[in-house]
Amino acid sequence: MIMIEEFTKFILMVVSEVLIAIDPGHGGKDPGAVVENYKEKDLNLDIALKLREILLDKNISVIMTRDKDETVDLQQRCDIANKNKVDYFISIHCNSFKDPTANGTETYAYPGSIVGQNLAQYVQNEIVEMLKTANRGVKYATFYVLKHTVMPAILVETAFMSNPQNLDLLLHRPDIFAQAISNGIIKFLESINYQQTDDIKKLRRKGIINEHYDPKSFVTWGEFASVIIKILGGTK
Ligand SMILES: [Zn+2]
Repeated sequence: MIMIEEFTKFILMVVSEVLIAIDPGHGGKDPGAVVENYKEKDLNLDIALKLREILLDKNISVIMTRDKDETVDLQQRCDIANKNKVDYFISIHCNSFKDPTANGTETYAYPGSIVGQNLAQYVQNEIVEMLKTANRGVKYATFYVLKHTVMPAILVETAFMSNPQNLDLLLHRPDIFAQAISNGIIKFLESINYQQTDDIKKLRRKGIINEHYDPKSFVTWGEFASVIIKILGGTK
């Protein structure tokens, strides 16, 4: 039982103080893709609201660029994320193509964004695994919201509305899409913490720091100065 409690504490520590912007694509005057009577803006919002619920449940703070059917332009979406200094930006969309056989999931990151690419890969993997959609992979694009947000940002093309099987998933399993995106985000956050914990261990082995510090704790100027002196070649 103690193990589980400690694990829970660890997870809470990892994911607390993280602020995520969820951006349901389109809205209001802009329906996005329209297939039969279904509008992309509604499907995006459905998944996004469910994702918000799941993340809040996990103690992750969330800001929405819209939480109802309203027109929000692309710069406004970026402004909301930038002004609130969110840590990560997640834009949710559905794909569409003239050929109805096109199907599957793809997740976009901004070209050259290592963190964005990493986050995109975790989210992509979870969706493909949970929904069994075709894996179209992580891709790069200079989409407006990826370019004009200052934090790592991804754009998820969950599935194709223009493909009957994919549309069926979007209409009936929005909760699973939301769960998959949430799982991807959480696994990504855990991976960062493991990496940092490992980096701290390495510095300790090299004698540059003395203790095993919590990755989220602050460094004083005194500690910082000691580290620099050690890197520069000793204290004599
Ligand atoms: Zn869209």
